[in-house]
Amino acid sequence: MQSISRRGFVISAATATAAFGLDGPLEFIRPAHAKDTSQGFAKFKVGDWTVTSIYDGIWEKAHDAGFIKGVSVDETKAALKAGGLSDAVVPITFTVTVVEKDGKTIMFDSGTGGQLSPKAGLLAKQNLKAAGIEADKISTIVVTHFHPDHIFGLMAKETNAQTFPNAEIVVPQSEFKYWTDPALIAKLPAARQGLAKRIQATLPTWKNVRQVADGAEAAPGIKAVNTNGHTPGHTSYDLSSGSTKLIVTGDVTNIPALFMRHPSWHAAFDQDPAMAEKSRRAVFSQAVADGAVLTGYHWGMPGAGTIRKDGDGYALVPVTPI
Ligand SMILES: [Zn+2]
Repeated sequence: MQSISRRGFVISAATATAAFGLDGPLEFIRPAHAKDTSQGFAKFKVGDWTVTSIYDGIWEKAHDAGFIKGVSVDETKAALKAGGLSDAVVPITFTVTVVEKDGKTIMFDSGTGGQLSPKAGLLAKQNLKAAGIEADKISTIVVTHFHPDHIFGLMAKETNAQTFPNAEIVVPQSEFKYWTDPALIAKLPAARQGLAKRIQATLPTWKNVRQVADGAEAAPGIKAVNTNGHTPGHTSYDLSSGSTKLIVTGDVTNIPALFMRHPSWHAAFDQDPAMAEKSRRAVFSQAVADGAVLTGYHWGMPGAGTIRKDGDGYALVPVTPI
């Protein structure tokens, strides 16, 4: 299994089924609203990095008028359709980026841990393995921000026990500071207090957590870049070297058909919508200029691509997996 991943070969779903004893064809995990997820992962190279997008699943969010400020459900449906997606629900997919180089395996965020949607949690359940990545060989987990879909995969549902106790967990300093302030809980609306409490009961008490400041290295060759707005400390990571540009953008934007095509649309998830838009536009215009490959947590599979201008917005040109 290991030699397969080290050489960067990609195995077919049929081979994965045979090799890893998965019960039944992988087709069953293909949701109706995401792009090709049949294999559960997509592997590609950017410079010296071997990059793997791991599909964790989908939250089929019912449409609601409050989801995008000032944008009607009909407009949202039309944009989903224009992007080649079903408009039956808002298809919020979860895709985790893993990079490998020099024998190190580094994962960005952790998936949902199967705690947010009945159709998510596939990273830990099967797709990491299907991609030839062994969970206990992950040396570092680098976190973009502390929303549940990005950190619940770090902790067990009932006990909060660590899922990856052998990995170093690197978190943005500003995000850590915001969420671990004991005074925060009373200031938050009731619906968000539970998240803050869970964060305060876990990350600050774990010995394997390290904070990274804006502009500092999260790991060798991986620089933290402030892309605040979605959350107060939301951070992207720049893995570029020389002319090869690779950036893990987390939640700089959600579904490309909605918020990349329309950067001024503000999802209800963005805590500071104006700042989120500013970060979004800065990342996209730089990516167009540099020809950078970006990965995004809610972009569906293959979860990465280059960016081009599209009218008054932007469009994702997905990478071609190996
Ligand atoms: Zn998210």
